Amino acid sequence: MNTPVSSLKGIGKESAKDLERLGIFFISDLLAHLPYRYENKEAQPVEQLVHDENVTVEGVVIGEARVSFYGRKKNRLNFKMNSGGHVLNVVAFNRAFLKSKLQNEVAITVSGKWNRHRAQITAQSIEVGQVEEKRPYAPIYALSGRLTTRQLTQWTEDALAMTEAFPPERLPEALLERYKLPAIVDTIQQLHRPTDKESLKHARRRYIYEEFLLFQLRMQAYKRSVRQNEQATPLQEDVVKVKAFMETLPFALTQAQKRSLDEIVHDLHQPYRMNRLLQGDVGSGKTVVAAIAMYAVITAGKTTALMVPTEILAEQHYESLQELFRDCDVSIRLLTGSTRKSERKQTIEALEAGQVNVLIGTHALIQPDVPIPNLGLVVTDEQHRFGVNQRRALKEKGSPDVLFMTATPIPRTLAITAFGDMDVSRIDEQPVGRKPVETYWAKHDMFERVITFIEKEIRAGRQAYVICPLIEESEQLDVQNAIDLYEQLQQILPSVSVGLVHGRLSNDEKNGTMERFFSNHVQLLVSTTVVEVGVNVPNATCMLIYDADRFGLAQLHQLRGRVGRGDAQSYCILLSDPTSETGKERMKIMTETTDGFVLAEEDLKLRGPGDLLGKKQSGMPHFRLADPVHDYRALETARQDAQTLIQSDAFWTDAEYEALRNYLSDTGALSGEKLD
Ligand code: ADP
Ligand code: MG
Repeated sequence: MNTPVSSLKGIGKESAKDLERLGIFFISDLLAHLPYRYENKEAQPVEQLVHDENVTVEGVVIGEARVSFYGRKKNRLNFKMNSGGHVLNVVAFNRAFLKSKLQNEVAITVSGKWNRHRAQITAQSIEVGQVEEKRPYAPIYALSGRLTTRQLTQWTEDALAMTEAFPPERLPEALLERYKLPAIVDTIQQLHRPTDKESLKHARRRYIYEEFLLFQLRMQAYKRSVRQNEQATPLQEDVVKVKAFMETLPFALTQAQKRSLDEIVHDLHQPYRMNRLLQGDVGSGKTVVAAIAMYAVITAGKTTALMVPTEILAEQHYESLQELFRDCDVSIRLLTGSTRKSERKQTIEALEAGQVNVLIGTHALIQPDVPIPNLGLVVTDEQHRFGVNQRRALKEKGSPDVLFMTATPIPRTLAITAFGDMDVSRIDEQPVGRKPVETYWAKHDMFERVITFIEKEIRAGRQAYVICPLIEESEQLDVQNAIDLYEQLQQILPSVSVGLVHGRLSNDEKNGTMERFFSNHVQLLVSTTVVEVGVNVPNATCMLIYDADRFGLAQLHQLRGRVGRGDAQSYCILLSDPTSETGKERMKIMTETTDGFVLAEEDLKLRGPGDLLGKKQSGMPHFRLADPVHDYRALETARQDAQTLIQSDAFWTDAEYEALRNYLSDTGALSGEKLD
């Protein structure tokens, strides 16, 4: 298995280097380097050719080929051929050497891109003479350096002859049988050298399932070992007190809130550390659920912390929690970058004396210089996940339970891949009586009407946001745009008080403007996307988003969530003239639904997973064939199977699972240390 590729015939130093760049060191790696597509070498009748696709036709040359030379060492070969009575043009580049073979009436097979309008094939391959052994699906491999498809085809052919180069059969008999999956040897063989469409399909099915299953097993084994290593004391809340607190709420929880709360409380009772993601649209009531959980932990005699990304949010949460806990005996403290030194000292002393129940602050809270003895629960708002350092810091604070809140509705498929090591609760239901935000799509030439509409709302005592176009390439331009728009709106609406926030302002300037917006001294707030996260001004009923087609659906949805937070009807106007079909599609979907989960699924289809979570932090694992979006059914099946396996005793002892157990220990999933 660990025989270097260079031991194969025809692989010298140069080729070995090129192969290394593809991650191929050993012969077994060669077999793991699967074709990324197959050329259909099965000749098709001309009537069935699809415009703009790669096709293969058979026929005979008509007349003779002509070659024209151009540029340095470049040439273009063209000729006509007869395929089943149709006359086709064939063009090929830099194949002048074929000219002499392409005589009148010579049999040929041509593969390449078909242009119906010109009845022309731009050939990638021209085989002269009758093809003896026909391979309907020729493998096409990713290449590097000076490697050629022909070489890789030859070398994989050699590797396929070596049984010891094949991966072990890891799937137990029962699973193979249940899903009618081919054995690993047949799978690898088919993926490299498909005999027919059907067999290839089953090979792909097996490979994808296995990739997902291994991934899910790794995640879940990791979770299990973390649970074993990071033991936590089970918490027991004061049920009577918690009930009483919930009765002080001016509303009843929605079903989804109840379900999520139950899941959280269940975790609190367990002897492992909670690691749970609470997902729900803005306004779906996550904070309330988190507050009840915090209160439960407080009645169990523990301290809690709430971490948010910005100071503005910290202050908002401070106020709303004080309101929520007003009838409870709960001491809340705020600790941010702008907390005065003396106050900070007091807070730290109070923490050490165990006199603080809720500590609210920015993410700096979990730094070592803030001692939080007896910490039972950390709630974080709007942060996808902790990095390694933060995990360590948390561990030093006694491994508290952790609840991550996010208003980014993450599609189920992504949640189980990117957040496979977490448990997920979803609040997928809005409290009754909410008026969904009415959303309109307006072209730029309707700008005046839009402004008139906003002016009317402001006259009626409401407030509005104007979100500036997003210019990803340059923050400088973003800011300039915002300033221009701000000045323009001041001129158009002289009687309206307009404010401006953008990323280049100092915190003081930004906070000042936000304060004036909260208190309705600013009526119209021009902003770059910095308001995206969590700002709550219920009196703001209008949002105008400039060049809305530049944003992804998830982001538009997030922005739109700033309005519709009060009792009045709210509006969101998307100003854009999208040129692309997806741009138009996006605008349409936004006007049709306010369900964040629906939008997230659509966004995933339109833009792919990388965009949705941000490429760097997406945490999406790399699969060779599997695609979590396209193959989500297989993913879901694999997830359930992995769960069943991990939880069964047989998995940890029986011989038929040995290969899977070996895989898990090889990847480090059993030590709970690394996960990549
Ligand atoms: P999120 O944190 O998900 O944005 P919040 O918890 O801040 O949502 O709730 C948004 C608003 O809705 C708050 O004013 C809250 O009091 C209210 N709210 C929460 N849950 C309910 C409910 N079940 N019924 C009615 N109003 C609710
Ligand atoms: Mg919130």
